[in-house]
Amino acid sequence: MHIGTKVIHAGVHPDPATGAVMTPIYQTSTYAQESPGVHKGHAYARSSNPTRSALEANLAALENGGYAYCFGSGMAAMDAVIRLFEPGAEILSTSDLYGGSYRQITKVHERFGLKGSFIDMTDLELVEKSFTENTKLVWLETPTNPMLGILDIKSICAIAKEKGVLVCVDNTFASPYLQNPLDLGADIVMHSCTKYLGGHSDVVMGALVVNKASLAERLAFIQNAVGAIPGPQDCFLMLRGIKTLHLRVQRSCENAASIAAYLRKHERINSVYYPGFEDHKGHELAKQQMRDFGGMISFDMINDSIELAESVMKRTRLFTLAESLGGVESLIGHPATMTHAAIPKADRLALGLTDSLIRLSVGVEDVRDLIVDLDMALSV
Ligand SMILES: *Cc1c(COP(=O)(O)O)cnc(C)c1O
Repeated sequence: MHIGTKVIHAGVHPDPATGAVMTPIYQTSTYAQESPGVHKGHAYARSSNPTRSALEANLAALENGGYAYCFGSGMAAMDAVIRLFEPGAEILSTSDLYGGSYRQITKVHERFGLKGSFIDMTDLELVEKSFTENTKLVWLETPTNPMLGILDIKSICAIAKEKGVLVCVDNTFASPYLQNPLDLGADIVMHSCTKYLGGHSDVVMGALVVNKASLAERLAFIQNAVGAIPGPQDCFLMLRGIKTLHLRVQRSCENAASIAAYLRKHERINSVYYPGFEDHKGHELAKQQMRDFGGMISFDMINDSIELAESVMKRTRLFTLAESLGGVESLIGHPATMTHAAIPKADRLALGLTDSLIRLSVGVEDVRDLIVDLDMALSV
C-alpha cells in the first residue's frame, strides 16, 4: 500500500460493535472482564485503549515499522527511549538539535548519571570518532532545526550498527510522508505528533515506532510502567489529522519552494536556509532520503538586524508569531528567543543561528497570499 492510502486505512476498521466507520473515542479507564483475567484484549486504559491501539497500528504502518507506542508529548516519547539505558550511558547527538531535546538530555537525564555529547553530524568522520565505549544511543534529527541541515541517516546508522549502538531518529520535521528512517537502518523513529502528523495545531502527542520485537517489548513496558500516555480523545483527533497528511505535506512543500525562491531574491535578507535549493549543502542527500524538501524555511536579515527581524515578525498577518510547526496555518518564529532559548548563545552562533534568524513553518494556504503577507512585512 502507498502512504496516501495507508494514512486513511492502516489500523482503522469499522467499529465491531456498531459499524461506525470512524474509530470511536473509547472514553473509559477500565474494561469489564468475563472472569478474572479473561477480557476482550483490554484490561486497563493505561496499558491499552482501542482508540489508541488504532492510532498506534496506523503510525506503525506509516513508518514501515512493526510496532508503535504513543505518548502524551514528543518529549515524553523521547524520555521513554532514554529510559532504556542505565546511568553511565552516553547519548551521542547533534549540535543542531531541537532545544527541548537538548534540555531534556542535559537538565534531566544528566542528573541521573547519563551524559550527552553534541556534535556536527554532517561530518561523518567526526561521528565515527565520537563514539566511546559508553555510547549507547545515537539521537539525531533531520532536517535539523532551525538551520535545516541534512544528516545522512543511512551512513550514520551503518557506523552505529558496526559499534552495536542503537539509533533513534526524530522524524518530526520530515513526517512519515517525506522520510522513513527505519528503511534507512534506524532502530527507533520518534515523532512529535503535535506537528505534521496532527497537522491542525490542536493536539500535543508523541510516538515511537520500531521494527524489532525485543525493543518493542521494552518500550511497551516503559509506556505502561511510567504511564505517559495520551487520552482517547487526543488519539481520535490524531487519527483524523493523519488522514490528510499526504495532502497537507505536499501542499506545504510546494508553498515552501515558492516562498524560499521569493525570499532569496529579497534585498533585506542575508541567507535563506532551505534544502530544496540546488546549492544547499544537503540538497543531494535530501533528494536521496526524502520525497520532497519539506515545509520549513529559515532566513536571517542583512547586518543581522534584530530590529528588522522583530518588525517582520510583528507585521505579518497570515503568518502567526508562535512556537510549533507543521499545522495547516503558517507560523513565523524567532528561534533565538523561542524554540532555542535553552541553547547557550555562543553555541547558537557557532551553528549560524543568529539573533535575526527567523523560522517559517509554511502552511497550506494559497501561496500568493502568503507571499503578499511576507512582502508587506519586509517592506517597512
Ligand atoms: C516539537 C518538537 C519536539 C517536542 O515535541 P512535543 O510534542 O512538543 O513534546 C521534538 N522534536 C522536534 C523536532 C520538535 O519540533
